[in-house]
Order: sequence, then structure tokens, then C-alpha cells
Amino acid sequence: MEEKRVYTFGNGKAEGRADMRNLLGGKGANLAEMNLIGVPVPPGFTITTEVCNEYFEKGKADVVSLLKDDVEKSVRHIENLMGLRFGDAKNPLLVSVRSGARASMPGMMDTILNLGLNDEVVVGLARKTDNERFAYDSYRRFVQMYGDVVLGMKPVNKDDIDPFEAIIEQVKAKRGIVLDNEMNVDELKKLVALFKAAIKERTGEVFPENPIDQLWGAICAVFDSWMNERAILYRKMEGIPQEWGTAVTVMAMVFGNMGDTSATGVCFSRDAATGENRFNGEYLVNAQGEDVVAGIRTPQQITKEGSLRWARQQGISEEIRAAKFPSMEEAMPDIYKQLDALQDKLEKHYHDMQDMEFTVQEGKLWFLQTRNGKRTGTAMVKIAIDLLHEGEIDEKTAIERCEPNKLDELLHPVFDKEALANAKVLTRGLPASPGAACGQIVFFADDAAKWHDAGHKVVMVRLETSPEDLAGMSAAEGILTARGGMTSHAAVVARGMGKCCVSGAGAIMVDYKTRTVEIDGVVLHEGDYISLNGTTGEVYNDQVTTRPATVSGDFAELMKLCDKYTRMVVRTNADTPHDAEVAKNFGAIGIGLCRTEHMFFENDKIKAMREMILAEDRKGREVALAKLLPLQEKDFYGILKCMDGMPVNIRLLDPPLHEFVPHDLKGQEAMAQEMGKSLDFIQKRVASLAEVNPMLGLRGCRLGITYPEITAMQTKAILGAALRLKKEGLDPRPEIMVPLVGTDKELKSQQAVIKAAAKELFDEKGMSIDFKLGTMIEIPRAALTADRIAKHADYFSFGTNDLTQMTFGYSRDDAARFLPTYLDNKILEVDPFQVLDQTGVGQLVDMGVKKGRSTNPMLKCGICGEHGGEPSSVKFCHRTGLDYVSCSPFRVPIARLAAAQAAVEE
Ligand code: PEP
Ligand code: MG
Repeated sequence: MEEKRVYTFGNGKAEGRADMRNLLGGKGANLAEMNLIGVPVPPGFTITTEVCNEYFEKGKADVVSLLKDDVEKSVRHIENLMGLRFGDAKNPLLVSVRSGARASMPGMMDTILNLGLNDEVVVGLARKTDNERFAYDSYRRFVQMYGDVVLGMKPVNKDDIDPFEAIIEQVKAKRGIVLDNEMNVDELKKLVALFKAAIKERTGEVFPENPIDQLWGAICAVFDSWMNERAILYRKMEGIPQEWGTAVTVMAMVFGNMGDTSATGVCFSRDAATGENRFNGEYLVNAQGEDVVAGIRTPQQITKEGSLRWARQQGISEEIRAAKFPSMEEAMPDIYKQLDALQDKLEKHYHDMQDMEFTVQEGKLWFLQTRNGKRTGTAMVKIAIDLLHEGEIDEKTAIERCEPNKLDELLHPVFDKEALANAKVLTRGLPASPGAACGQIVFFADDAAKWHDAGHKVVMVRLETSPEDLAGMSAAEGILTARGGMTSHAAVVARGMGKCCVSGAGAIMVDYKTRTVEIDGVVLHEGDYISLNGTTGEVYNDQVTTRPATVSGDFAELMKLCDKYTRMVVRTNADTPHDAEVAKNFGAIGIGLCRTEHMFFENDKIKAMREMILAEDRKGREVALAKLLPLQEKDFYGILKCMDGMPVNIRLLDPPLHEFVPHDLKGQEAMAQEMGKSLDFIQKRVASLAEVNPMLGLRGCRLGITYPEITAMQTKAILGAALRLKKEGLDPRPEIMVPLVGTDKELKSQQAVIKAAAKELFDEKGMSIDFKLGTMIEIPRAALTADRIAKHADYFSFGTNDLTQMTFGYSRDDAARFLPTYLDNKILEVDPFQVLDQTGVGQLVDMGVKKGRSTNPMLKCGICGEHGGEPSSVKFCHRTGLDYVSCSPFRVPIARLAAAQAAVEE
């Protein structure tokens, strides 16, 4: 059988269906489906996406001859249903030619309207409609669109002048008028002639008068638009394969601009912003679709309720509203009733919120399009839960309807939409931690804290941040850095705090001396206002107002549903009781990573820590460690108490020691005094700690092996806190984790130190407590030898930040220098520090789990790298058989949803 290339629809019949979107594109499939369910749609036909591929394989001439019979037959089909003739001056049929891919690619490809007009037909149209102005306006728009789209006259650069627009301006200037719709019939006629002359002059081609020639030109142009730069870029961004191709739909034109019984509009079956079950939309009487978009006239609301609300917001009185901006419900009550019934029908049919386009031509309603509507995160959750309650969808579908990353919008403060529309974007960086922040610029952590205490809202602007900046970051509304990627210190810590952060904004020049930052020629001083959008990476001049996030009951209900279906559980990465509390409220059932180093920067702890690091010998270290022990125990007490009855995985000291010592003179002098040593001594010790490659140097378990007394002190602090809580009748569940292990002997040696310290403590206190001992798998060699390592571990936690760094050989802190180029050139599809590289790094995780469980079947496995909160990585973790993922508090709900989806998909 010959391949079917063209599918017709019209008058309640269609050769296609909704589930044929791969072949007919979203638009074509839904137009067919609407016919089948009794929604009025102008008749037409769709040329398949497969023809698009043939077009690029075989070329234009071959494809036109392949399609010729089918297309001509299908044009007859439209003519018969409409009672009109293509190219007939008395009773002319006009058509639109539209693109439509499988996935929606809004505005990326081309559309041609009013096709079929020529010098003869336009006269007939004017006579038939008794509206010369309408006919010539349609004609000049068509010639212009045809010249732009089919004959390639659309300017390539946005600064180039559109030759047609230039002609329009000349014609208007001659009579001193401003608006397009002020042109009279003679002027519109003149435009047509001038446009045609411009086409001849520019392209050497004569504008085709024959409608069939016009049609072929338009069909081929729509196929060509699949390969335009915009479309190619969009496909790259959205991961849409080129082979999908676009379909072409040719459809009878219906006109919303044929007088006061005609109209055009767009409507939604529910509120796309809030999710409320409220039919809404906008329309314009006597207008074409592009008039709504052009913004020359103010569109009116469809429902009366919407209209009243709109008038209130605009400060428009009821008299004026009713007279000048009545709703469709009031102005066209019969049409409104039909529209309302049909939108309801469409929503029930698709079981989802619909976004629809319609036209009313002389009192007859036509639908031109329907699709599942785009929506905000809040609306997404509400609509899914409401549809579940209404019995439209089942629980699994409700879970699958929600996009995990969109939950983020529900968790962080966001910019006020109106304020944002008026704000000036200064520059862009990485969207390191979502949310909105607005405050006065400060450059130093202590200033951030001071200003904050004095009641100011501040944004901390830094070249980069380090653990020393923690207090400042905590006091700030948001953080902006010039350097650093998505797992840089600033990014990780900010996400942990749920604090807005834009990192790696390469265009900002920070001058700490003058306390200024120059962004694209604008110099901002300490105290000036700046605003950050951590969700998009945009940086704005001045103050942009924010509003706090709200978590609704639907959201909680969705999370409960997730728990019902999920297999993996979700823990959190938290270093303070505050973060732990936030995460617990978001549903974390334990801590998957407590980075102890962050605790050392508070209050007196940093002094004792520095004393320990700068000590000359073991004895000196032990003196300092004795000061640290009770302080650390207090930290662990707080966090274990907050997470009572839940596992708390505490990691032993991990970062290179030089991160803790003072590098400035003031700090070094203070240390010298504190320790009773000379400044020279301190400076030499600091210098001796410098490493060429600290990320691969003395860090992780290498610290604990070099200085076992640190491991012993931390063990006693963790277990000491747990014992106190046990005595108080609580149920602490500590886990002690050894970082950066690469050989089984490293773990074995640390295990011995931990066990000895525990025994010493238990003997001393006369009581004991169970605890688990595990390790991070974050060095490739650990994954390769996981069978050996697992013999000494109760659990593995995959540290995919370091594992990615070491598998790719990309420095976490320097990757922002070249990753953008890699992404632009498609050397990498995504940033591997954000989205787990399943092909490479994923193999190591998979191997680690399998090998580990081969020697230790009871081994629990989790992940605590940043990927633990990224949906596609979470789903990979599920498939790999991990028991849990652990992520920043503000990503806990996202991970819960992704984990449930992974289970449902299985
Ligand atoms: C990791 O490496 O993935 C990890 C969680 O540890 P950190 O980010 O603290 O190095
Ligand atoms: Mg690590």
C-alpha cells in the first residue's frame, strides 16, 4: 500500500486522531480529534511530519510531485465543505498554512494567512463581504507575509529594516498618520502594488497570482522553516531531535474581522497562573488574531467575572467597563454559551487544562487550536490534585502530570511579575540557587552580618565565596559571584540555605578596595540596590519587589501521594538544626550528609580550629581539640535532637586545612596573640599549608589518617551527643561517614580509630549506643574496588560532586571557565555537575552498588552529591537500586516527586 502523506479533516470527520501527534504534529492531531468529538473546526488537511524528512532528503521538486494529487484532492475537500472555490473571484476560499511539530515550539516556525488572494479575488472578496477595507487589508497582509516567509525577505538581523515596514511608514508619513489602521482603502491598495514591486526588485521574482502556486510556495516555506536558525536553536535547547520534522496544516480561513458579529480570542479552561477551576480568556470584536498580539487594542475578558476582576485591577469604573469593555458573556451571550460548553468538553476529553484559540465569523464559532496549557508550578499542582478529586485522572497520572523542577516555584520567594517587567537586566550568571533577592550591595561577610543586624536587606557580591563567608551568606538575601559553577561553594551553600544565588557572572568586575562592582559599564557602590533572580540567573539594577512563597494544601496532598508510590526515600544535606528543620518540614526522613566543616566557622570554634591546625605537634593539637570537643558535641546534639528517631549521617572533616586559617594580616595577628606565638611563626605555618592542588591534596580521610586525633575527637563529639540524648529518653540514630576513601585500607584504618574512640567513650560513660559506620564513594577507585571497601562499611554514600570532578578531570571550582563553551559547542549536552552523567559517572555508581552488595548484601546505598535533588539523576538512582537520595532542604519535595515518578514509570 502506498504511504499516506495527507490527512483530511472537516465537518465532524477526520482521517487522523489525537494519538497521531508524531505523524500529524500536535496541532494537526488535535484538529483531527476536535472534529471527531464534535467541536467545530474549519476544514483542512495535514501533511505528515514524515514528508518533512522526505522533503529534506529528496528535495522540493520530488516532494511536490509526490504530494500533488493528494493536496489538490484535499483542496477540493475543503472547497466542498465550505461551499467556496480556491481562486474563484465570486466565492473565494482563502486558507492558512501552519506548522506543527510533535512538541510545541511556540513561534519558532512560520505561518501564512489569507492565502488565495490575488488582484481578481480581492475584488470578489470586497464585493462579497461588502467590506473593501477588510479585503485590501487582508490582501496587503498576505503579500507582506508571503514576501517575508516564502520569498525570504524577512530581515535576518533584528536591527535590519523590514522593506515592507519601511513602505508602510512612507505611505503613512505622506498623509501624516501614525497607526496602521488609519490607512484608507486607496492607501492599502497602493501598499499592495508597492509591496509587489519591492518583491520584484529584491528577489527578481514576480509575486504569484495563481493560488495553487501560492500554496506550494507556502507549504515548502513551512518545511524550510524547520531548518531556520531559531528552530534549530530551540530544538537544541529542548532536546528535540531533527528527525521529528514538522507537519504542515492547511485550513480554511475564517475571519474574526467581518464586523460586529465577528471576533477572535484565546481562552483557558482553568487559570494557568493559580490553577483555579475558572474558565478565562480574552477576545476582541471585529479583529484578527494578530491584533490581539499586536497590543494596539485592549482585549476584553471572556467571562463577566473575569471582566469585573480585570476592571478592579485596572481601576476602571463599572460604567466604563460595561460600555467599553464588556465581557463576551455579556456582549455575545449565545456564542459565550457555546464556547463555555465546548471548552468544558475539550478539557474533559483530554483530562487536562486546555489552551484554545477560536474565531467567531458572523455569528458562527470555530475552534482553531487546542493544546494542554502551559502553567505555573502552583497551577500545576492544584490542577493535578483537582482533576484527581474530580475523578478525571488517577493517582499515578496526578504524580506524572507534575514536573518536579517546577515545584521549586512553590518554595522560594519570587519577584512580583509587574515589578519584573519594568526591571533592567544588567547581566546574567548561572542560576545557582533559585528564588528572588533584592537588597543593598555589600562585599564582605562581616559587613553583611553588620548591615543585616542594623536592619538592612543586603546582597553579598563576591568574586567567589569560601567557608569564611558563611555567616555573611546567611545574613544576606542573596549572593552574587563572578566566579564558580553550580557546585562552587557559593552555589552549594546557598542552595542548602534555600538562599537565592547567581554564580559565575563573568561580566561583573568586583573591586574590593573601592567597594564597587562594575557591570557592563554601570558602576555600583556599596549600599546601592541590586536584585537577583536565582531561577534564571538574571541580575537587575535597583530594587525589584518580591513576594513570599506559599505552600498550599494541594502541595501537601501531592507529597503524600508520592510517599504512597515511592520506593526510595529522601534525606537532606543539612549542617544546622535550622536547615534540618526546614528539610523535615519538606518531608526529609533523615540527614544524608552533615558537613561538619561548616560548623567550625561559627563563634569561638574557628579560633580553636585554627589553633589546632597551626599547632606544631600532636600535643598542641590535642590541647586545641579538647577545646573543640564540647563545642562540636553541642552542634551534634542540636542536629540529632532535631532529627530524633531519624538517621543522621555525619561526615568527618573533609576540606583542605588551609581553608580554615587566616590569610589576612589582621587575622594572623589575632592568631599570634591567641596562641602566644610570633606573627612570623603563624605566617610560616600558614604558608606551609599551601598546596599546589588542594582538591587532590591533604583532605578527606587523608586528614584523619594523618591526624587520627581529629577523627577521635569528632567520633567522641558525635557519640557523646547521642549518649546525652539517649539519657534524656530520645532516640538518636547517628551515622559516622569517612570521606574521600580510595582504598579499603584507608577505611579500615579510620574504622579502627573510630571504634577505639567509641569504646573509650562508652567505657568512660558507662553506657553505649548503636551507630553505623559508612563511607563516601567519590573517588573512581573506590567504585572500582567497592567489593573490598564494602566489607568495612554499613553504607555507601555516593559523593557525585567529587566523583564527577575526578571522573571527568574537571575542577569543580574552575569548570565555569570552559563549561559554557562546551555547552555552546555541544561537546557536553548538560553541565555534569548539575545533571548526573549517566553514561560515564553513572557506570561507576552502578558498579559501586553492585560490587558493594556482592560482598555485603545488607549494604545501604545513597547519594549525597548535588545530583540527589535533580530529577533525571534521582530517577537514575532509583533504577540503579539506591535506597535513598539526599539533597538540599529546598530540593526535598522535588526529589520526592521525582522518586515517586521513577517508581510509577517502572
Ligand atoms: C560530593 O563530593 O559529592 C560531596 C557530597 O561532598 P562535597 O561536595 O562536600 O565534596
Ligand atoms: Mg566530596
